[in-house]
Amino acid sequence: MVTSLLMADASPIRLVIHGGAGTIIRSKLTTERKQAYTEALAQSLIAGYAILAAGGSSIDAVIAAIVVMEDSPLFNAGKGSVFSHAGHNELEASIMDGSTLMAGAVAAVTTIRNPIRAAHAVMTKSTHVMLMGEGAETFAAEQGLEIVDPSYFYTQYRWDQLQKAIAKERVLRDHDAAPVTPLPGENEKRGTVGAVALDCYGNLAAGTSTGGLTNKRFGRVGDSSIIGAGTYADNHSVAVSATGTGEMFIRAAAAFNTAAQVRLQHKPIAEAANNVLAEIAAIGGDGGLIVLDGKGNYAMCFNTTGMYRGVIGNDGVARVSIFSEAETSASEK
Ligand code: ASP
Repeated sequence: MVTSLLMADASPIRLVIHGGAGTIIRSKLTTERKQAYTEALAQSLIAGYAILAAGGSSIDAVIAAIVVMEDSPLFNAGKGSVFSHAGHNELEASIMDGSTLMAGAVAAVTTIRNPIRAAHAVMTKSTHVMLMGEGAETFAAEQGLEIVDPSYFYTQYRWDQLQKAIAKERVLRDHDAAPVTPLPGENEKRGTVGAVALDCYGNLAAGTSTGGLTNKRFGRVGDSSIIGAGTYADNHSVAVSATGTGEMFIRAAAAFNTAAQVRLQHKPIAEAANNVLAEIAAIGGDGGLIVLDGKGNYAMCFNTTGMYRGVIGNDGVARVSIFSEAETSASEK
């Protein structure tokens, strides 16, 4: 008994989350809205921490933290997802277990309330890694996950964002063929969510969930549901969740790239993340990465004006930030 108490004390637990990186302008974020984001991020951290502190797994902590953000209208995931050009909400999510390298993902789903739970079901209840569209929805229903009418995802704020994006496109691209990529500015209000966790058994996990990009077309899928791009976890290196211009994160294999630099080149985690963000910037992208290693060292790096983010560890104190420099834990500075 004493031994296990000592072990529990000695084992670092950690949860790091993000709620999206982008052009978050200080003067445009009202006190009320900032307060709402701060509270939602803190709730997410506390939900995941409760699991880790009780000896639960990093996978369960990642799910709990992400579900809080998926259920909030503030973030571009679950309830607050953005609209596609056709006026639909097409959601995606992925999850990975660093102890087994098992992974699951769903993409282009329109009726699953919590895509992160569906990604987990794919990981644990199927022999596949990624399911999409109606098939993923049928599978989620069979697994007893909550299915909602697509209207559940309607929010006026996101609808207005779509109308603005469509109007801008007409003005700017009047003579062009329909653009496949979103126009500059449409990326500004991102809110993809993600979490990385370390449990008291030393296991890492990562997960990411999003509604994608406003005004996306043609069944576009981003990095958030792609293992190695938006999400990666390996006990031998790190757990990573990404947010940003998905196409560039896919091309840079952002999450795996970060993990590979730590594992193979022994880079400090913040350096690895910043290297990857520089690669992404060089091909025209931006965003952020949260990274966590098996000792509880973490980094929250971004090359945008802000990233909604937070961290909690053994002391149970939720620390949330939005602006300023990227942060790393003391041992990584
Ligand atoms: N990475 C997401 C996507 O491209 C967007 C975001 O992170 O805000 O779908």
